[in-house]
Amino acid sequence: MEKDRKDAGAISITAMADMPYYYHVGFYYSRFLRELRDSKRIVGVKCPECEKVYVPPRIVCRDCFVTMEEFLPVSSEGTLLAYTVTNFSYTDTTKGEPKKIPYTAAYIKLDGSDSNIVHCLDETDETRIKAGMRVRAVFSGDRTGDYFHDIDHFEIIEH
Ligand SMILES: [Zn+2]
Repeated sequence: MEKDRKDAGAISITAMADMPYYYHVGFYYSRFLRELRDSKRIVGVKCPECEKVYVPPRIVCRDCFVTMEEFLPVSSEGTLLAYTVTNFSYTDTTKGEPKKIPYTAAYIKLDGSDSNIVHCLDETDETRIKAGMRVRAVFSGDRTGDYFHDIDHFEIIEH
């Protein structure tokens, strides 16, 4: 494809675009972010039919299709289900800067939750990480209402 464009005489340029944007995250996610920011508390919402707890909160149970309104805190500790140590950077949308590498993306099931979250783990040595490990959230000292900032990272509780 690139060769075809060059053969046709097309010219490519590289440019950076500074495009800040704002969007409303909705009532449920706003409450989730406020609890993190104001109380270092992770909240979910419980289905009145099947009693599953979703973190972050969502309005409708994916299985029962009923509206969920019971917010409740879950633990800031949980189990590491899966992870990947990444050596490929991307632009961190909250900072507009390249993400420092390596970093470990972690798939975590918090105690008291029936869904899973993604965040960063502070360990990048793959020989020291195993699925099934216990992890805990480490909160930022200057929380702003941003999930990936207010929970700074997760740390391994036990090896
Ligand atoms: Zn349900």
